[in-house]
Amino acid sequence: MAKYVYDFTEGNKDLKDLLGGKGANLAEMTNLGLPVPPGFTITTEACRHYLAEGEVPGGLDEEIGTHLAALETTMGKRLGQADDPLLVSVRSGAKFSMPGMMDTVLNIGLNDESVHGLAKQAGGNERFAWDSYRRLIQMFGKTVLGIDGDRFEHALDELKGKRQDTELSTAELRELVGTYKEIVREETGHDFPADPREQMRLAIMAVFDSWNSERAVLYRRQERIPADLGTAVNVCSMVFGNCGDDSGTGVAFTRDPASGRQGVYGDYLSNAQGEDVVAGIRNTIPLQDLEQLNKGAYDELMAIMATLENHYRDLCDIEFTVERGKLWMLQTRVGKRTAAAAFRIATQLVDQGLIDLDEALLRVTGDQLAKLMFPRFSTDAERTLLTKGMNASPGAAVGKAVFSSERAAELAAAGEDVILVRRETTPDDLAGMIAARGILTSRGGKTSHAAVVARGMGKTCVCGAEELEVSISGKRFTAPGGVEVTEGDVISIDGSTGEVFLGEVPVQDSVVVEYFEGAADESDELVQAVHRIMAHADSVRRLGVRANADTEEDAARARRFGAQGIGLCRTEHMFLGERRQLVEDLVLAASPEERKAALDALEPLQRTDFIGIFQSMAGLPVTIRLIDPPLHEFLPDLVELSVKVAKGEATDKDHKLLEAVRRLHEQNPMLGLRGVRLGLVIPGLFAMQVRAIAEAARQVEGAQAEIMIPLVGAVQELEAVREEAAAILADAGVEALIGTMIEVPRAALTAGQIAEAAEFFSFGTNDLTQMTWGFSRDDVEASFFSRYLELGIFGVSPFETLDRDGVGRLVRIAAEEGRKARPDLKLGICGEHGGDPDSVHFCHEVGLDYVSCSPFRIPVARLEAGRAALESAGSGDTR
Ligand code: PEP
Ligand code: MG
Repeated sequence: MAKYVYDFTEGNKDLKDLLGGKGANLAEMTNLGLPVPPGFTITTEACRHYLAEGEVPGGLDEEIGTHLAALETTMGKRLGQADDPLLVSVRSGAKFSMPGMMDTVLNIGLNDESVHGLAKQAGGNERFAWDSYRRLIQMFGKTVLGIDGDRFEHALDELKGKRQDTELSTAELRELVGTYKEIVREETGHDFPADPREQMRLAIMAVFDSWNSERAVLYRRQERIPADLGTAVNVCSMVFGNCGDDSGTGVAFTRDPASGRQGVYGDYLSNAQGEDVVAGIRNTIPLQDLEQLNKGAYDELMAIMATLENHYRDLCDIEFTVERGKLWMLQTRVGKRTAAAAFRIATQLVDQGLIDLDEALLRVTGDQLAKLMFPRFSTDAERTLLTKGMNASPGAAVGKAVFSSERAAELAAAGEDVILVRRETTPDDLAGMIAARGILTSRGGKTSHAAVVARGMGKTCVCGAEELEVSISGKRFTAPGGVEVTEGDVISIDGSTGEVFLGEVPVQDSVVVEYFEGAADESDELVQAVHRIMAHADSVRRLGVRANADTEEDAARARRFGAQGIGLCRTEHMFLGERRQLVEDLVLAASPEERKAALDALEPLQRTDFIGIFQSMAGLPVTIRLIDPPLHEFLPDLVELSVKVAKGEATDKDHKLLEAVRRLHEQNPMLGLRGVRLGLVIPGLFAMQVRAIAEAARQVEGAQAEIMIPLVGAVQELEAVREEAAAILADAGVEALIGTMIEVPRAALTAGQIAEAAEFFSFGTNDLTQMTWGFSRDDVEASFFSRYLELGIFGVSPFETLDRDGVGRLVRIAAEEGRKARPDLKLGICGEHGGDPDSVHFCHEVGLDYVSCSPFRIPVARLEAGRAALESAGSGDTR
């Protein structure tokens, strides 16, 4: 029979699939002998069954009963026992952390009788017992019974007026319990369930259901967490942080998750429970101040944090509670961190001897590196500082201030940059946080919801800017000195320093970009960490990394960023601007002489371009692709020309152009006369380009040209071009490889034949994706991809991350059959996927020789190529 419930003593940290992250780590801490309140975990498998079948699996209730009975024996009291109640929390916990996205209910087991028993347990502390009871009804009402939380908040606000919640008297809390029960009756037509087992049963199902809550679904989509994992449920005996000033609750990190600086970091709130500390309800104190309040608990906590770091060999975050002086651990996990912290911590751990460089490389990701290449504010510019909050999640964000999540989403959808300003954020603000460029809050610490979620998303966030008086209803905030910012005013926030500026502050490159440019301060700890990890990635990777670059400047930058050649030089990009005129002449040429004249005019310009690029690449290979797009892209717009002609304003040339535009007009130009087809139809065009390449290569010592023919679907097309090109190269006495792009499905399927005529393949996965799916790459992303993502048809756009099952299969077939026909066939990729982390891993697995991507993504490709090599060597799963 399936086992659906595990005692904390039965699990361990490697059982996250089954017990969720929280359950697995509670078990691990229990086994380490740390003070964890006893409890048990209901598996994700039970949740999946419940979600699929609409009912809990058979036998689950009995299994829970058995574990509860054992817990009651351990604790020496029964759940909800009137004179001495055991109370439990019911907490969600999925495999991947989804902070605040799912439900938790505390204080289960309280009712009108056991509230007195709880007071007795707490040495007659009636106030504490009634406070716990009202919290139960409030949390249960909101999350289990689905009552609007504002109803409870409102009743609480009305009762306490301007006072803190700790100032409410026992009588008032009792009154509040009555009011809350009344709200439950009004909203559900039933009394609040007094039976503790019923409370527990309903809470467990509510946690299961919360897996599919709107915000959880949205969060998973954003974070690319699979939708079918389900959550585990942890039932844990309660310990109380709200029994007085000798109690409290806190969250902590074993090092600073924002900067990676060594030394513990956290927030503590005395006389508080559960989410209070992250919800920004009262302002927290720094963890270090706990030492004065309770030295014993503080010292024990420090020792436990050191144990956890050594045990997990990584930064851990924890939640803890102090109950009348005694420390309890409620949660730990390997903590989220900013991208900069990830690099710094990974190398610190190497220096501490806890991990090796392989593992350090596996601990950082290309996405994190990409985030570090974000710009930051220019310090030279004039800036009007409004205030300084906490530097919760780094980056530089500029946008219009908005004060609600809805407004943020609305303006962002209209293409505006916005900064979401809130007093504090709750999980309900998720849509606005996703839409905003940055987030600014006036309350809460670095561990507040806003900070944790923003950091996870890589979004700039300043929190706890306490000097700001934020009026959500008035859609404005007031900064010190009386400066008022209302909705729509532009502000700039710096998530690395916590500064908030009025107006738009110009941004500048990141220190990591400066490092790649060779212009960084080498003593900077982040620069050193990135350098060490990049060097290691380069030493272990098998994949080469090239650049897609068409200009000398791009080529030069690509080299500085570590490119080992150019994988795609799109020659059509050289026909823009003033040269467009020459292409027009080519299209309009009425005789072979006119065509030759047009080509002769283009040739020296092309040659100069290639000389520049060969020089920038100093002997590294340069793959030059012959002209690819449909010719009419170089001609004036059909409608504009027609209007000019209709108005009688057209010259002779305009008339001729109009005729040409009409002649060349295609319904589906992407599937029309382009690529090799164009080369075969316009005599002399490809030959002119090959001559320019050959001549340039002759003039630049060591130049290594590779000539690439686009859009080939049949070997015959390639043979026709190849013959002419080879003759030109031979005449010029230049050696160059001649190869093709594989970007039409037929080319992939006949790769064995094509390889007979190609010395290299470069996968053009932009077109290959377009043609495999039948998706127009220019249209579909904006038109219906959001719906497809919502429906889960794919988790990410196939134009962004290579579709392994479909497009990837074609790549595999072509690579295998191509290599069979020509064992030394060189294989690369030059579609946008060449710089995408997951796709780089795929390219490694398939055995390509190199990836080619835009210059700015080269460092990411280098890093991921290194990680892919370690992954396939069995050092770990890095995706
Ligand atoms: C491709 O199709 O993947 C490619 C690199 O070519 P382009 O994007 O220029 O069509
Ligand atoms: Mg293409």
